[in-house]
Amino acid sequence: MNPLSVKADFPILTQVVNERPLVYLDNAATSQKPQCVIDAVSHYYETTNSNVHRGVHTLGSQATDLYEGARAKVQAFIKANDAAEIIFTRGTTASINIVASSYAMAQLQVGDEIVISPAEHHSNLIPWQQVAQQTGATLTYFELEVDGRLTVEKAAAAINKQTKIVALAQASNVLGTINPIKEIAAIAHANGAIIVVDGAQSVPHLPVDVQELDIDFLAFSGHKMMGPTGIGVLYGKRALLEAMDPVEYGGEMIDFVTLEGATWKELPWKFEAGTPIIAGAIGLGAAIDYLNTIGMATVAAHGTELVAYALERLRTIEGIDIHGPLDPQQRTALVSFNVGDIHPHDLSTVLDEQGIAIRAGHHCAQPLMKWLGASSTARASFYMYNTKAEVDALVAAIELTKEYFG
Ligand code: PLP
Repeated sequence: MNPLSVKADFPILTQVVNERPLVYLDNAATSQKPQCVIDAVSHYYETTNSNVHRGVHTLGSQATDLYEGARAKVQAFIKANDAAEIIFTRGTTASINIVASSYAMAQLQVGDEIVISPAEHHSNLIPWQQVAQQTGATLTYFELEVDGRLTVEKAAAAINKQTKIVALAQASNVLGTINPIKEIAAIAHANGAIIVVDGAQSVPHLPVDVQELDIDFLAFSGHKMMGPTGIGVLYGKRALLEAMDPVEYGGEMIDFVTLEGATWKELPWKFEAGTPIIAGAIGLGAAIDYLNTIGMATVAAHGTELVAYALERLRTIEGIDIHGPLDPQQRTALVSFNVGDIHPHDLSTVLDEQGIAIRAGHHCAQPLMKWLGASSTARASFYMYNTKAEVDALVAAIELTKEYFG
C-alpha cells in the first residue's frame, strides 16, 4: 500500500499551510479523516437523519440499522464475542470513567489495590485517583525500565492478591511503548483482578483482538482512527457489564418506567442514555471499513517502518534526546524528543512556519514528564498517509530551528 495513494483520500492533506505543503505529524492527538468518512456523515444527514430506536417510520428504522450496523463493525474490528459488549461513548476518557464510576466505585474498598503505570495519560490516571480517594482503595504504580518500557517481570511484581484492577495503556502516547497486555492480563486474572486497557493509541495502529488478549475492558476513541470526534467505544465482557449499574439515567436506557421507579434496557443500551451519537457512530463505521480495506497488519507495518526511519534520521541530530526505547519493534508510530535547550513550544512554532504540525507540551501525562525530567516534550506521530519524505522534512526543519536558536 502506497502512503501517497492513501494520502489522496484525505482532502485536508492537500492544503498549503504557511505557504508550505502541510506535513501533518500530530496524529496521536487526532487523525485526519478520509473522504469516505466525511461522505458517510454528510450522506447520513442528507438522506437518513432521524432518531434511533424510537420511530417506526422509514428514516427512523434506516438510522437505527446504520447505527447498530456501526456497532457490528466495531465488534468485528476488535473481535468481541457479542455486539452487546460494544458501548458507544464520547471517547476513551468517557469510557474509562464509566468503568471507574460504575464498576470500581461499587467493587472496591479499603485494602484493595489499583495498579497503573506512571506513564498513563491523565484519562487513565485521574479516574483511578478519584476511585482510590472515594473508596479507600490504594493506587499503586508499576516500575518502568530506564527506557520507559514495562516488563512482564515488573508487572508481576506489582500485582498481588490485593489487586482488584489493573489499568494500563496498550501503547503510550508519549513513549510509544507497546505494553505486553496479554501477559499482564493473565497475571491480573491469576490474582483475581480485572484489567482495563486504554486502547486510544493502539486500536488505531495495531490489530487488537480482545478475546485473544483476554482483557476485561477496552476504551478507545474514533477520532484517533480516522473517524469523527465525539464518538468512542467501551468494550466490556458481558458478565461484567451486566453486573454494573448505568452511570447516566434518562431516555433510551430504560425498559419500563413508573412514578415509583424504572428498569433498564439490556446491554448495550443500558449504558447509552439519551439520544446517542448517531452520525459519529456511522462515521466510525466508515473509518473501520476504510482501515479494513488497507488492513490493520499493513497499517501496523507502515507505522513500524516509518518510526524506524524517523528514529534513524532523528538520531543524526546533535543534541537530540529521544524518549522511549530505540527499537522500533517495541514502539507504535510516534516519537517524543527534546532538542538541546530549545523549548518544545518554540520548536513547534518554528516547524509550523515550515508547514509541519507536531505536538509540544506535557501530552496529558504530567507525572511521566516528571519521570523523564522534562517539563514538556516535542512529539511527531505518524499514520498511514505519512511518508519518509515527510520525516526528512521534519529533520531538516529541526536542523533549521537549531540554527535559528543558535
Ligand atoms: N489515553 C491515551 C493514551 C491518549 O493518547 C488519549 C488522547 O490523547 C486519551 C487517553 C484520551 O482520549 P480522548 O481525549 O479521545 O478521550
